[in-house]
Amino acid sequence: LWAHVQQGPPDPILGLTEAYNKDTFPNKVNLGVGAYRDDEGKPHVLQCVTEAEKRLLDAHLNKEYASIQGPKDFRDASAKLALADADNALAEGRVTTVQSISGTGGLRVAGIFLAQFYNFPNKDRAIYLPTPTWSNHLPIFRACGIEPRTYSYYDKNTCGLDFKGMMQDLDKLENGSVVLLHACAQNPTGVDPTPEQWHEIATLIKQKNHLPVFDMAYQGFASGDYDKDAYAVRHFCEQGMLPFVIQSYSKNMGLYGERVGALNVVTTDPQQASAIESQLKIMIRALYSNPPIHGARIVATVLNDNDLHALLLKETHAMADRITSMRTRLVEELAKAGSKLDWSHIQRQIGMFCFSGLTEQEVQELISTYHIYLTKNGRISMAGVSSGNVEYLAHAMHAVTAH
Ligand code: PMP
Repeated sequence: LWAHVQQGPPDPILGLTEAYNKDTFPNKVNLGVGAYRDDEGKPHVLQCVTEAEKRLLDAHLNKEYASIQGPKDFRDASAKLALADADNALAEGRVTTVQSISGTGGLRVAGIFLAQFYNFPNKDRAIYLPTPTWSNHLPIFRACGIEPRTYSYYDKNTCGLDFKGMMQDLDKLENGSVVLLHACAQNPTGVDPTPEQWHEIATLIKQKNHLPVFDMAYQGFASGDYDKDAYAVRHFCEQGMLPFVIQSYSKNMGLYGERVGALNVVTTDPQQASAIESQLKIMIRALYSNPPIHGARIVATVLNDNDLHALLLKETHAMADRITSMRTRLVEELAKAGSKLDWSHIQRQIGMFCFSGLTEQEVQELISTYHIYLTKNGRISMAGVSSGNVEYLAHAMHAVTAH
């Protein structure tokens, strides 16, 4: 019956973790996984989350279904965290927010909605993604019948932003194109536009009447400041644009496995917001009926309580700080190890990832000789770097790059 079904390729990142788990070398290092680790290399549960869970347990809540769009206290708090008072959109009731199965599910529902309702300027319904981008963006949008295409983003020579190339590409697109932007801490490069560059990007996107779709998987995690990390999203709203904003609570609250996030659609008026919500509900009902309740309850409890919210800000800041300090340490250790190469981009880049500039061959050598696991594009998950392994990592990076 299923003889025609062939073995599919393993996921590039999860395959790496499998190889790491099998490795018996005592000082092995996993820099593939996009999840925060503490300085001992252990997964981290936030204190504000544990406290919220205690309160939820004490409240003896039932396990009834959530509404299709998720609990209102969660949705209101989530939209506020992303948009604050930008352009008064929330106060005017012209934002639709639905809970999503984290960032991935939010992107997928956004894709399905766009495929059905957006008036694409091109026949093959394209979404324009930065090169490179999170690898899952491609299959997510393809599965919605939307064709992933690219615009310039990363400059290999500077390990920074190819701003000129990006602007030229966005300018060349047909008016009204759908453009995906990483709100902050771009994955995989760690390279973000400056606020001034965001202003220029916003002006161009507005002038071209493109539809901005913000993937905001790292709010708070990039700089440690939720408002700063939402700067681009809010600026686009202030300029009168109507972006899609997809949130994830995987990284900033460490709720990876709870699968909690939100899709926000900024519209012109409450009637539009209501019509869009009704259509999103029809789509979600057919996809998974209604969202999981536990993660949404945790997020709502934390965001709606002053003390827990303050604790969240402090804890997110601490995670971002640890990563920043490891960037500094890694650059210092590379110099100490004797590397004469310019590694300053490691410190310039932002968020969980560092696009190291290591070649595929150098990565292969790190894996086979040094038991250091990372994706073949040279992306280092900085969350996997700790005081205990930074020196070893620097030595290995120097050894494979000192030709
Ligand atoms: N977008 C980007 C850019 C990401 O890096 C990730 C996580 N790796 C996601 C979305 C989705 O993650 P999740 O589904 O856990 O929210």
